[in-house]
Amino acid sequence: MTRDILSLAAERVVVFDGAMGTMLLASGLPTGGTPELWNLDQPGIVEDIHRQYYDAGSDVVHTNTFGGSSLKLADKGHADKAEQVNLAAVEIAKKACPESRFVAGDIGPTGRMLPPVGTSNVEEFEEAFYQQAKALLQGGADIISIETMFSLEEALAAVRSAKKAGSCPVVAAVTFNKTPNGFFTMMGESVGQSAEAFEKAGADVFASNCTLGSGDMLELVKDMKNATTLPVLIQPNAGKPVADDDGPTRYEQTAQEFALDIKRLVDAGADMVGGCCGTNAEFIREMVRHIQ
Ligand SMILES: [Zn+2]
Repeated sequence: MTRDILSLAAERVVVFDGAMGTMLLASGLPTGGTPELWNLDQPGIVEDIHRQYYDAGSDVVHTNTFGGSSLKLADKGHADKAEQVNLAAVEIAKKACPESRFVAGDIGPTGRMLPPVGTSNVEEFEEAFYQQAKALLQGGADIISIETMFSLEEALAAVRSAKKAGSCPVVAAVTFNKTPNGFFTMMGESVGQSAEAFEKAGADVFASNCTLGSGDMLELVKDMKNATTLPVLIQPNAGKPVADDDGPTRYEQTAQEFALDIKRLVDAGADMVGGCCGTNAEFIREMVRHIQ
């Protein structure tokens, strides 16, 4: 690797990948299955998904480790496999990664809550995230990407742990909801509070993903840019979920509609872009066509 993701972002818009879960479900992962175990059981399918994103123009792909913390894996009795699935995930992504592109070690939420809502504590979050980040970096991830965090406190625990585990760039994302008074996390934290706390904790990129569609994220990206001097990464869903019959959840936007919105997000200042729920390689390909 000759340059890092932050210097690339200073030159041009950096393109991340789209959803992993959406692609895994399309590849036969049963609903309710544990996606991270496919790093051990179906590595070829995971590698093929990464390859599709790189072929579509992604500079960065996320490892298949969204639920790869020991706390999250514990829900299905697999806490003991945490190190193994994270190491395998990076190995798979690096196999697919062309020269001068990047692998982001993905860290998602534990699924547990801090007081007053739940009974978990920050120390156990930090321990689980530290172990996960250490395995991702040991495997050779270029950056750590913390995503889909509904609580700023939990996201900060992950940022501190990632910083402690190594010296790579750390992307820190919280998920915002749109309210009449602006954008807030599920726990009520504002864009300004999130930016300030992430900067203090040493995050290198201020990010937001999931829940909101690309249209609603236009105002959000402006608020984020006003709140920080860090590069901003934005990864919207493919619009709203469509309520219909059984089967995997569908989303309302076409790749082209999504790509047109992404172009607006870039014009509004987004430094890095990608997709979340409902997006696939076609969305990334279309997006690249629109922003280049
Ligand atoms: Zn999502």
